[in-house]
Amino acid sequence: MEIKTEKQIATYGNYINGEWHEPAQTLAVFNKYTGEEFARIARATKEEVTSAITNAHETFQTKKLSPYERYEILMRAAEIFKERREELALIIVREVGKVLKDARGEIDRGIQTLIASAEEAKRIAGTGVPLGQPGNENKMAFTVRVPVGVIGAITPFNFPFNLTLHKIGPAIAAGNTVVLKPAEVTPVIACKIAEVLTEAGLPAGFLNIVNGLGQEAGQYLLEDDRIAMYTFTGSAGVGRHIKSATGIRRVTLELGNNSPNIVHRDAPDLDRAAELCVTRGYINAGQACISVQRIYVHRDIFDAFVEKAIKVAGSLRVGNPEDETTDVGPMISEKEAKRAESWIQEAVEQGAKVVFGGTREGAILQPTILVDATPDMKVVCQEVFAPVVSIIPFDDIQEAFDHANNSELALQVGVFTSNIQIAMQAAHELHFGGVIINDVSSYRADVMPYGGLKNSGIGKEGPHYAVQEMTEEKIVVINL
Ligand code: NAD
Repeated sequence: MEIKTEKQIATYGNYINGEWHEPAQTLAVFNKYTGEEFARIARATKEEVTSAITNAHETFQTKKLSPYERYEILMRAAEIFKERREELALIIVREVGKVLKDARGEIDRGIQTLIASAEEAKRIAGTGVPLGQPGNENKMAFTVRVPVGVIGAITPFNFPFNLTLHKIGPAIAAGNTVVLKPAEVTPVIACKIAEVLTEAGLPAGFLNIVNGLGQEAGQYLLEDDRIAMYTFTGSAGVGRHIKSATGIRRVTLELGNNSPNIVHRDAPDLDRAAELCVTRGYINAGQACISVQRIYVHRDIFDAFVEKAIKVAGSLRVGNPEDETTDVGPMISEKEAKRAESWIQEAVEQGAKVVFGGTREGAILQPTILVDATPDMKVVCQEVFAPVVSIIPFDDIQEAFDHANNSELALQVGVFTSNIQIAMQAAHELHFGGVIINDVSSYRADVMPYGGLKNSGIGKEGPHYAVQEMTEEKIVVINL
């Protein structure tokens, strides 16, 4: 449980061997809308991180949970999360600045992620391997899947409940132990996950949490060879560092995107396309890895689309995320909002036009629509990670595909068309981890395989696919 200081601010230490350890040093966690200090967390030292890894390693070697026990624990945790939905959603509102309705949505999705993980615990299987070459007549072979061992999980700030469960759920379902390092700006909900899993019956040592800074606690995790695999979601820069720091150990990297969305002139419902493109550009103040960012619209419908987009943007309520009716809240910090604002200003200096928004107050950046943006502008070619979309015309569908593919980031892409040929062409020619037809790039069902190509990452999430990543496949050959 958390420790209260004299000011009654909850403090979360490091969670090791089923107990919270009072930290030597702490960091403040702020309410992203009010700026008030809302909790404190440990600033883990190397010794504390090492102790968490030692415990996870010993636990892996000495304790086992059967597949059905793992299933039951994860299902019980899902039930507890349902009961605590409102309390947990409020934590997300405060520490992320996410608007209440989306925070509730994240809790609901996380529960489903956990249920899907629980189900996977009962389905882990290898395959029969036919040895049909001459000389193998007396042999039979099959594979078995075994857990990799200790998994180091490092998570980002933007979906701190669902994305953390995308790591812990499959890792535990597959029979591993985990040391988790949550994002230091949004760590409280991860501490609640530990609380709930423990209440659901997860024995000590299966999930340890080290809180603190990326360059400290995160880095110490990378330096310990007893961790067999890292599962990371975050920025491409840190992903690259993790890959180079961990040698031949396994990694799953879920990184960023500058998501393109193509609206062809035969889009089945232009109103729906405009509404989806705009609202999904602003969810979580644009801070989702698959947020709509680049919108390529056929020139025949360009003006009508821009008009509709402005109307949708104008209908959104911006402000206090705790208010039930707010659609867009603050970004994670004023610094990040200023960074995005400067990218808008730079684009304008280079010839782009703001047709909606563009202004900032503190950490709140008004939902923004740009036109006349060109491929070399940061708002187009880099991950903007803010409520900013650019609407760009095209004349020929091949030109739109080329624009979309012209990026080192390749997580997901959306295409609106009622032409089956173009839809199939998109599926083949768009080089992305996911091609979404008649919905936006930000569509994700939590059970589907999810992960990027190029600099958007390595490996897949989605409980079934994550369990494959988090298990080793061994071949067994029997001489009959
Ligand atoms: P970030 O890379 O700054 O931080 C992510 C985590 O890495 C944090 O826990 C941080 O403390 C840790 N970290 C930082 N430096 C480290 C180091 N040297 N060693 C080990 N750990 C370190 O990312 P963020 O700002 O929290 O999240 C935003 C990014 O995440 C965006 O680029 C976004 O696209 C990406 N993201 C991707 C997905 C996906 O599924 N592909 C989902 C959500 C977010």
